[in-house]
Order: sequence, then C-alpha cells, then structure tokens
Amino acid sequence: MGARSGNNYLSAMRKLKAEVWIGGARVEDVTIHPALVHCARSIASLYDMQGEHPEAMTFRTADGDRAGMSFIQPKSLEEVRKRTAMFRRWAEYSHGMLGRTPDYLNTSLAAMAAAHEFFAASDTRFGANIANYYGEARKHDWCATHTLLNPHASRAAGWAGHSDADLALRLVDRTGEGMVVNGCRMLATLGPLSEELLVFPSTLLKEEAADEPYALAFAINCNAKGLKFICRDAFDAGRSHFDAPLASRFDEMDCVVIFDNVAVPWERVFLCGDVARCNRLYGETNAVVNMMHQVAVRDVVKSEFMLGLAAKIAEVSDATGLPHVRERLAEMIMTTEVMRACLRAGEADAAPDRWGELVPARAPLDTARNLFPRLYPRLVEIIQLNSSSSLMTAPSEADFASALLPEIERYLAAAGAPARERVALYRLAWDVAGSAFGGRQTLYERFFFGDPVRMASTLVDNTDLRPLMRRVDDFLKRID
Ligand SMILES: Cc1cc2nc3c(=O)[nH]c(=O)nc-3n(C[C@H](O)[C@H](O)[C@H](O)COP(=O)(O)OP(=O)(O)OC[C@H]3O[C@@H](n4cnc5c(N)ncnc54)[C@H](O)[C@@H]3O)c2cc1C
Repeated sequence: MGARSGNNYLSAMRKLKAEVWIGGARVEDVTIHPALVHCARSIASLYDMQGEHPEAMTFRTADGDRAGMSFIQPKSLEEVRKRTAMFRRWAEYSHGMLGRTPDYLNTSLAAMAAAHEFFAASDTRFGANIANYYGEARKHDWCATHTLLNPHASRAAGWAGHSDADLALRLVDRTGEGMVVNGCRMLATLGPLSEELLVFPSTLLKEEAADEPYALAFAINCNAKGLKFICRDAFDAGRSHFDAPLASRFDEMDCVVIFDNVAVPWERVFLCGDVARCNRLYGETNAVVNMMHQVAVRDVVKSEFMLGLAAKIAEVSDATGLPHVRERLAEMIMTTEVMRACLRAGEADAAPDRWGELVPARAPLDTARNLFPRLYPRLVEIIQLNSSSSLMTAPSEADFASALLPEIERYLAAAGAPARERVALYRLAWDVAGSAFGGRQTLYERFFFGDPVRMASTLVDNTDLRPLMRRVDDFLKRID
C-alpha cells in the first residue's frame, strides 16, 4: 500500500478495537469518542498531506511504492534535508503541539532496520525480524507509539530481586510461537490512537542474569489479547476551536499500558534477554539520533510559534515599544535561533554510520534535546508575563453569542484589535501557558525524551573532553 490517507488511518483505528479505558469506561470506537475524536482527525489530516504533496512527503521505495518520508534511510545530505522538510510540514500543522506524530518512531525504526546486524549478533532471527518489521510498518504506514518506563514502585532496587519486581514488564514464558510477557509500562503517548506498540528497553539494566527477563525489544498490535491502555483525563473537553484552540485539536492522549500475559510472536521479537545489547540499542543503531532529528525540527517550529504569539500579544496590547517586552522578545528570538542553529549544524555535519545510513551529527542535536526542556518553560513564562490579566478577561464563544455582545465589544477591545480578535488571541495564549493542555505541554517538553539529569549525563559521556583538558594542562605547563 505505502503512504496512507487519513481515511485509511481512521478506518484502521475503527476496526482495531484495542482495549482502551477512559474515566472508568471502555472506549468502543476511538475515532468518535469525545476525548479522542479531534486528535484522531488531526492525525488523519497529517496522513492526508502525503497524498496532497507526494513529492515532499513521500519517497519511492525499491518495490515501486511511495512511502512516508520519515521511513527513509538517507544515503545523502539531500535525503536528510528532504526528511527535515517533511518533519517540518507535519510539525507546522500543530505548531509543534503534537509531540508524538508518527514520524518520531518511523525514523527510529528506519535506523534500527539499517542496523539489523546489531540485532542479528544476538540471534540471527532478530536481525531478519527488525528488517521485516520495518518493511511492514512502512508498507502499511502504521501509526505506532512506544513505552519505555517501568512502574515506579518496582525500580528502587533495580527490577530484579526487588519485592515488586513482578510489576515491571518482563518475560514470563517462551513457547514455540513466541514469548509471553507480563507487567506494566508507565506511559505511552498517543496509545489509544496507535495501531502498533513498540516496546523497547527501559532505562539501563544491570548486566547480570537476574535482569535478563526485563531486557526486551519487540512490537505488538495494540489490540493484542491482554493489552490494556488506561488513559489520563481528557484535556479536550468538547470546547470549540475559539474557546480552546489547541486542546480542541491536539490533545494527544497519554496512557499507562498493562500487559496481562500477552503473547508476542517470535517474528516480532528484536531482542530477548540480551541485557548488554538492550543497554546499547538506541545509541549503537543511531535510532536516538534520528529521533533527535525529528525532535529538533519540532523544537524549531514550536519556538517560532511561541515567538509569533508573543509578538502578536505585544502588538495587540500596544507594548512592542516597552523595553522589558522587547528584552523578552529578544530572549525568544535567541531561543529560536539557537534551536535553528543546532538543527542546521546537525544536518550540515551529517556523516555515514557503520550501517550505511547518513546520520545527522549527534552533538548539536543532543544539545537541542538537552536545551529545549530548559528553554521551553521560559517561553511559556514570557507568554504569561506579557499577557498578565488578559488571560483572565477572555469570555467564551457563548458569551459573544449572547446579549452581552455590545458590552464585550465595547470594553474588551484592545488598542490594536477589536474584542473578538483580542479575546481569541488571549484564549490561544491561555491554551499555551495556563490551561491543562498547556501545563501538559510544558511537562511533555521537560520529560518526554527522558529524565533531564540522565540526558545531561549522557551528553557528558558522549563528549570527548580530553583534548580540552589537555589544552588546560598544556597552558599550566607553559613557561613563557
Ligand atoms: C507528557 C509526557 C509524555 C510521555 N510520553 C512517553 C511515551 O510516549 N513513552 C515513554 O516511554 N515515555 C513517555 N514519557 C515518560 C518519560 O520518558 C519520563 O517522564 C522520563 O523518562 C522521566 O522519568 P520519570 O517520569 O519516571 O521521572 P522520575 O525518574 O520519577 O524523575 C522525577 C524527578 O526526579 C529526579 N530523579 C530521578 N531519579 C533521580 C536520581 N537517582 N537522582 C537525582 N534525581 C533523580 C529526575 O531528574 C526528575 O526531576 C512521557 C512523559 C511525559 C511527562
């Protein structure tokens, strides 16, 4: 089939009937449930872009199909840049508010399939499995989520040997057909709106036999028997686009995933019990760098949107000339430019890896993924500081349609905009900087790629500091 349409996605989701729970009730059809319908339509719109702009959004595969561009395994800088352009178009659709668009995991699968020998070194079947799975995912243009974190109660002493060790997802049986896994993984964004769940190694495991049952990498259909998705509260509360411009479109649901003795066929297993390889998977296959590439593009788009919003707020409130407003706008410009520079450096310094793929340079993209969680909350803070009480003087669409209209129009206009325009702008600002949707966005940017402390530590591990230390030593030895 190749690159799919929005209708194809929605009809697949309708048929899937995964076990999804929201607010104590089982969801019958995720494509019409009030908490999910609008995000489902947004994802469908992304897929529709593939048919609307085939040259930009897809590429021709060896078998003649057109596949989504995020599945590409780039061999040239031109292909890396094509992927950037595709990431950008999808990110611009939601201004970066949809974090888990399918390109995020597609690009990681592309890297893992290119590195199939990494998996084959553990078991020859696993090398073939990851390559075949990538082929199927690309052919069907599956929408996938992933889940990495084990339950918090089970982690204090490592997974194995702890009194709650059976809470973490683990291997409980091997049969002729496959493995049986049981336990829980904490978070899957877009889980209820995905067809496939990628279950990859959690944070680092201890290299000892007791941790082997937790060292797993596999893929499973979201409607597999025994798999349950438990959703958080919905932030799309059925409000209009005027009232909640972002939440009413882009509330990508997060959920806990429970595996109740789920059978995973061998052909969907990529690693089993190989602790050392699980710990090295993301780095050695370069899947993490491809994911950083997608994230850096989204960071640029989101920074640009926040800057545009702050500039509009300054204009409408006639504050663009105020020194402190200008200083804050300058801060947002600097954030945007730094994110652009990281992305550009990552692309410009792309180099072939040992698996034959052209991979963006890790260091600038790693810088972006470490910086943005620190910078994004400040962008939100600036929107709050520059908006102030205007965030609270923003009546709803229903108020505009009521007898209050003349008074609203008289008293709530701004120097630079009539009341409806001013209120619409501040309702958008609230959805970014104050609503439950906005709060979750900040939390997402802080954590979705991992704990910032551990990500920073990885950056230190991956940076060769010795030449710089030698320069200090050399200077200390200088006698002139
Ligand atoms: C909105 C959202 C969506 C997400 N979506 C997904 C998803 O789709 N798939 C997925 O797999 N994961 C997802 N995540 C989870 C994400 O990977 C984790 O939030 C992240 O890895 C941090 O883990 P944690 O939340 O368990 O935090 P914790 O490990 O509980 O850390 C909490 C705080 O304690 C600090 N801390 C923890 N341990 C130590 C220590 N030893 N020393 C010092 N400080 C410490 C951390 O720095 C942090 O500030 C999502 C998270 C969020 C917030």
